[in-house]
Amino acid sequence: MLFLSFNLKNIILDKSKIEQFFSKVESSSNLVIVMHKNPDGDCMGAALALKVLFQKLGVNPIVISPNNFPSFLSWMPLSDEILIASKEKEKAKLAIAEADTIISVDFNAFHRAGSDLENPLLESEAYKIIIDHHIEPEKYFDLYFSTTQTSSTSELIFDIIENSQYFSHFNKEMAECIYVGIMTDTGSFSYACNNSSTYKSVAKLMEFGVDGEAIHRLVYDNYSFDRMRLLGHSLYNKLVVMPEYHASYIWLSKEDLKNHKFQTGDAEGIVNYGLSIQGINFTALFTEREDVIRISLRSKGDFDVNKFARKHFSGGGHINASGADSHLTLEETLQKFENALKEYKNDLNF
Ligand code: 5GP
Ligand code: MN
Repeated sequence: MLFLSFNLKNIILDKSKIEQFFSKVESSSNLVIVMHKNPDGDCMGAALALKVLFQKLGVNPIVISPNNFPSFLSWMPLSDEILIASKEKEKAKLAIAEADTIISVDFNAFHRAGSDLENPLLESEAYKIIIDHHIEPEKYFDLYFSTTQTSSTSELIFDIIENSQYFSHFNKEMAECIYVGIMTDTGSFSYACNNSSTYKSVAKLMEFGVDGEAIHRLVYDNYSFDRMRLLGHSLYNKLVVMPEYHASYIWLSKEDLKNHKFQTGDAEGIVNYGLSIQGINFTALFTEREDVIRISLRSKGDFDVNKFARKHFSGGGHINASGADSHLTLEETLQKFENALKEYKNDLNF
């Protein structure tokens, strides 16, 4: 993504806005941090870095995850204190109802927290803060830290903390959280980080004792045998290449998932392989879940998968990485995707 120009950085990291943020946090008696459904490394890093910091300030927020987080992130600081709403639905709803301040991290609209939490969040009268890097955040927040011009929500949180009077509390645990967020949202520094500011922030994280090699191993070299075989199966048996559209896709049925004892997070990263093929500019992963077909979209260059996701599947995200849910059957969803591709034959030829 682009680098933060000085003007933009001044607007997003306006001192008085940062002061307002911390004064809200410090005066809050029931602070809730909400993550998006299927939380990834960035969302977890963002939420947990804040939790570690706030606890040092004497505020103990409840971090809510709509559903399970991936097991390869369970080593992260305070992850064992996360309230999983799909397991403790009433407790999560009550926490939201009782909250006086709610911080949404790494998502731009409450429906991204899933159908169980969407209404409680919408109905809540808490002061609502968004910290996020997706386009077009909803209008119902009271305080915005929102820009697409950063690698990740975690990097943005590091910028906020660094520009606050609380940077003296910053420590290795927080640095590790932020590092996980930047590393995972940039595909280990391969996209969305073509600027110096991300690397400057990472250099500062290293000074707090982050072991980048160890974190990479914990996150990426932690596959179960079943997960590795699901990847093999996806590439060998379920990858469809459409050279005429410079596109490819992988589709995984419930049976594919069951045969590989699917756990949350096991499909993470699979979508990227479809884009690693020479001449392919657009790829998708379709995963048949309990009640929905989960769609992940990735592209190279100027092909805007956020627009594609919005137009055809009511989803969204970023220009090169987006997602959506389809309520059609798997077969119908694939058919719809293949039909939609026809519109983009020229756009994809680059
Ligand atoms: P992933 O494919 O990794 O699930 O998602 C890629 C990107 O698209 C993420 O930045 C995510 O926040 C966004 N995204 C994923 N699913 C949805 C969705 O259903 N709606 C919207 N608006 N954004 C999504
Ligand atoms: Mn993110």
